Amino acid sequence: MSIEPDQYPAMLNELRANFATGLTRELAWRDAQLQAIDRLLRENEEAIGKALASDLGKPPQEVLLGELALLYSGIAHTRKRLKRWARPRRVSTPAIGQPARSWVQPEPLGVVLILGAWNYPMQLVFGPLIPALAAGNCAVVKPSEVAAASSTLCAELIPKYLDDRAVRVVEGAVDETTELLRQRFDHIIYTGGAAVGKIVMRAASEHLTPVTLELGGKSPCVIDEGADLQSAARRIIWGKCINSGQSCIAPDYVLVSPQQRDDLVAAIGAELETMYGADRLGSADYASMINQRHFERVRGLLGSGTVAIGGKVDETRQRIEPTVLIDVAADAPVMQDEIFGPILPILTVADLDEAMAFILERDKPLAAYLFTKNKDSEKRFVETVSSGNMCINDVIMFMAVHELPFGGVGMSGMGQYHGKTGFDRLSHLKAVMKRGRFPEPPVRFAPYSKLKMKLLRLLG
Ligand code: NAD
Repeated sequence: MSIEPDQYPAMLNELRANFATGLTRELAWRDAQLQAIDRLLRENEEAIGKALASDLGKPPQEVLLGELALLYSGIAHTRKRLKRWARPRRVSTPAIGQPARSWVQPEPLGVVLILGAWNYPMQLVFGPLIPALAAGNCAVVKPSEVAAASSTLCAELIPKYLDDRAVRVVEGAVDETTELLRQRFDHIIYTGGAAVGKIVMRAASEHLTPVTLELGGKSPCVIDEGADLQSAARRIIWGKCINSGQSCIAPDYVLVSPQQRDDLVAAIGAELETMYGADRLGSADYASMINQRHFERVRGLLGSGTVAIGGKVDETRQRIEPTVLIDVAADAPVMQDEIFGPILPILTVADLDEAMAFILERDKPLAAYLFTKNKDSEKRFVETVSSGNMCINDVIMFMAVHELPFGGVGMSGMGQYHGKTGFDRLSHLKAVMKRGRFPEPPVRFAPYSKLKMKLLRLLG
């Protein structure tokens, strides 16, 4: 049964009361919830596959690769380390504070609100829920209404598997989210576009609630002189085509030298042929655009340059062929906002320096990619370009590394999660100092003196 907006205050009161009992603090409870998420996903793989096929035409292999496998390994990673992460973390105490012990004591925040996005509907609901529960919080989950079948499925499955005293699902769109955001939470983790990110942050400021904003942006992909073009082509076009380009860390556009451009385009053409054959719009391995609005939006970008590959659309299935655009001006429509669709503009730049200057002139992206064989180029790129995440010689694959924090910087978001970073993000890292009573050096107490000043400098 869906929770209606007029019930939100009562729902929050119940969750707060349950949190106050200490229920969610028990490590055994937390572990049981993580196991329950694992079971929920494994026992309902078929239903999840159907929901994702209905929402996005997601091929089964992409359901496994882009949604489930990351969650399974994320749960296993967290369960294995949870005890260690939750333990007090001893730190050293300087002489002035002696005798004492000092430590960081992770503690749960309270009730966390999770606002999911539609493009990876399972990953973006359960991905944040894993650290939220591991850290001992209660959670309210609002899946994106845009992926309607997945939202309904989450609302049906979560109460069946997870402890209703601590986890609730709210379904709905703008009105429901607006009402939800009027409530006081202890942390909000939002995934989606920047425009709504600002709404979330504004609402959170009313309660001084901290926010994690997982946004997007135009993630650039640079081809260095002498890079392995075949490997680059295969990896870039894979990253562009999975979920039909509707991935926040999809390579958005490519920067390459004029000398290498045509070879890169040819290599991408060959890779597309291998991956999807001639009938790409009809391929069972290729997802659709989420809805008519996004289909029209992305179709409108096809005219932003010369179509080198692709360009066809299937209106009935809301599909857009993987499309490579060349002769794209830096201020063309396709270069204004995140594309979030299977169009790859390829722009030419003289060299790596010009490519890096091009990136630095724009908003900081969620991910930045470089293909190179040159160690010096790699070093300069890593040290110069600011982005949420980075990958050298591939795209997206850092998602598989749970020890790497994930999240944006600047306009691509704030706050990171995944692995221990997620646990820490959704915990309060309470600083504790326990002082011994003896000895009690008089140095910090009045009456002050020159000698005490000297000693203070020494002990500092
Ligand atoms: P969306 O439309 O699903 O919206 C996200 C959430 O915001 C939903 O829960 C929705 O109900 C809520 N929402 C929408 N309008 C609202 C309003 N006016 N007031 C309050 N809440 C509202 O998703 P979207 O914004 O289309 O998502 C696409 C964007 O998300 C892209 O920019 C993509 O890069 C980004 N993204 C980021 C990540 C990440 O992990 N950083 C992952 C996936 C997507």
